This record gives sequence, C-alpha cells and structure tokens, in this order.
Amino acid sequence: MSFEKFKLHPILLEAISTIGYEAPTLVQDQTIPVVLDGKDVITSAQTGTGKTAAFAIPILQGLITSQEASKPNKKIKALIVSPTRELAIQIAKNFKSYGKHSNIRSAMIYGGTEIEPQKELLAKGIDILVATPGRLLDLHKQDLLNLDYIRTLVLDEADLMLAMGFIDDVKKIERLCPEDKQTLLFSATIPYRIEQLANQILNNPERIEIGQNDSVASSVHQLLFYVSKRHKISLCLHLLNNTVSGSILIFRRTKFGVDKLYERLKDEGFKVERIHGNRNQNERQKALADFKRNRVNILIATDVAARGIDISELDAVINFDMPNIPETYVHRIGRTGRAGRAGEAFSLCSADEKNYVKSIEQFINDQIPVENNHPFPLDPNAKPIIHKKKGSKHKKGRKSAASKKKKRRWYK
Ligand code: AMP
Repeated sequence: MSFEKFKLHPILLEAISTIGYEAPTLVQDQTIPVVLDGKDVITSAQTGTGKTAAFAIPILQGLITSQEASKPNKKIKALIVSPTRELAIQIAKNFKSYGKHSNIRSAMIYGGTEIEPQKELLAKGIDILVATPGRLLDLHKQDLLNLDYIRTLVLDEADLMLAMGFIDDVKKIERLCPEDKQTLLFSATIPYRIEQLANQILNNPERIEIGQNDSVASSVHQLLFYVSKRHKISLCLHLLNNTVSGSILIFRRTKFGVDKLYERLKDEGFKVERIHGNRNQNERQKALADFKRNRVNILIATDVAARGIDISELDAVINFDMPNIPETYVHRIGRTGRAGRAGEAFSLCSADEKNYVKSIEQFINDQIPVENNHPFPLDPNAKPIIHKKKGSKHKKGRKSAASKKKKRRWYK
C-alpha cells in the first residue's frame, strides 16, 4: 500500500515519490495515522526503520494544511529534540526533502559550532526547529527563541538522551512548550526512566513497538574471537588484512581507544576515519561523508557518536571492545546484514569481557559461534586483570557526582 492511503497533501506525495519511497515502512504505517489524528505517541524503533519520516511526514502535513488557512509567521510550530548533532543534521535533511515543494521553513541548531549564524536563522523565522538540548536552552535563555507556539514536540532517541545525561534538559524543554501540545517520543529501547518520563509528559499515548530489540537478523554472520587485551590490535589488523573487506564499522568503548586504533590503522596504510564526541562538528561531518561516499572504507566510532546515524549497507561490524549492555551488541551488529544482504559481525573478547558475552548470549537467547583458529588465541586459563589503586579510599559501588559526569563525557 502506498502513502496515498494517509490522504497526504499532493505536494508531500510528490516529494515522497521523487525520493523513491514506494510504500510506508512498518513504523510509518503504524505511527503516521496516529500522529495525523493528533494523539501522543511512544514508539520504540531503531534508526534504520524509517522512524524520521514517521514523524516528519505527518508534521509537514499538519503545517501545510493549516498554512493554507493562515499566513506564514515567525512562530516555531514543531520542535524536534535530538541527542546528537549528526542525528539533528539527518533529521533536518529529511524535513527539507519531504517538504521541498512547500514553503515550510525548517532549521537546525546544535552545540559545538558558532552561535551567530544560528541566531540569524532564528531571527528570519522558521516553522520547524531541530535542536540538540544544550544549544536550544542556551538560545532560549538569551531570549532568542520562543517555544510558546509549539504544536508538536518530538523527542528522538530518548534512551540515548538519558544515557548522555540530557534527561533534565529534556524535561525543562518540555515545560517551556505549551501544555496542550502533541508529544511524540521515539526510543530504541524503553528503559524504566524513559517509561517514567513518558508517564510524566505524555497524555494518554498510543504505544507502538517495532521489531524485537533482542533479535539478530539471520543474514548477520556472527563470530567471537577470544584474545588478550594486548593482542587485540594485532588480531584486528589480521582480520582487516585477511578476512573482512568492504565497508567496515569498528566500535570502541572510549574516545581514547578510537584515536589509538585510528592512528595505528592509518600507519598501516588503511583508509580510515573516526568519530567521537571530542571531534568538532566539521571533523565529524567530514569523517561521516568520506565513509558514506566510500573515500575511506573503515570508520571507527564510539557507540554514542554512531547511534542514530543512518549508515546502512555495511559489509562488516567489528566489536573491538565488547559492549557491556546487551542491547548495544544487537544495535551495533544490526547495522550490517540489512535488507537481506549478508553481513559479518566480529567480536574481540578479552578475559575481562567474558561476562559481557554471557549477558549478550542470554539476551539474544543464542550462542555466538567462537573462532579459535586465529594467530592470537587467549590462554584458556587467563584471568581478568583487575587494576586496583594502592591505598584507594574509594568505597566499591559509590561514585561521586564528578566521576559520573566525567564518565559520561568519556563515552560520548
Ligand atoms: P531512519 O530510520 O529514519 O533513519 O531511516 C532510515 C533510511 O530509510 C533512510 O535512508 C530513509 O531515507 C529510508 N526510508 C525511510 N522511509 C522509507 C520508505 N518508506 N521506503 C524506503 N526507504 C525509506
């Protein structure tokens, strides 16, 4: 069934057909009619399912039809809050292409870049604003934007906003918008605190669940390599030289780890780029563009930097560090093997990460096949190395607010 069943405005249907979408995806099929009806929605869906169009198309439809009755003005009518700059850029791009035959004006604002051009954009007047939480609040504090006329608020990748420590900012933003607005919450997973947030801010929402969060596509060929920590780089090089080819996304847990591996692969002559929270906006955009256009075939990323970015058609994912959250494993490897294509997911596990594998296997209810035939096998008796500071006064399980904040920054 095509998009026509939603009774969209002809200029929207024309744009959708030019882009080449033939039929709505599952998340669009279920979410678009509910949003058009004006209801609040909580949708669990991952990037890659088409969730951006699931909120962008009905928002545009509402604005186009109401614009026919009223003159364009300087009031922001729809606000989309995104945790990362990359996702904000992607969302804004989608709004522009779906709304290209209309005169709806959309813009984006995000941190880590000059504020002046964003002030100018806001002064010109826009209908749809895509924003990251910090910069949005910053501009609001300076009285440079008004959220009094918001009709629809979208919170995208809500679980990632929680993980990045934005939840209080999100609550503040919600309170700055009118009480009778429509709120749409999208999240890959619905942990307890997101459920709580939804209960606080959504009004009798419709619940839509897309895809099983614990399922791994059968087109993904998974392999687990047990290896000591100090041999991980050698094993990674061995795999890149002998086993995997094509476009490869490598995940590391920390920004420092991303940089270290990047330098080494570059020295070895690989075409490689990297993204993490310490790189500035231009660097991150360029890295992503070079990877998408095949100028480099390897991208190294932290989870947070890679989440929400539409990188599809990957040939392989390498988990250089095992993720400590089972859902993250599923998200990471779900980036390959899409649309029925075969994909590889290689995971390098050191002695201290064996427990992560156990949790992942419980979560996916399956065993990841182990490849023992490689040049750097882990000594089966190897015990995890636990680094303890001599005379440390820290009590186990109690972390200071400063150390938690530091950790959050480290993982971005
Ligand atoms: P998203 O999950 O919103 O990041 O979308 C993932 C990808 O799916 C993007 O490249 C979209 O352009 C594409 N997409 C979204 N909706 C459709 C559709 N109905 N048919 C084909 N591709 C789509």
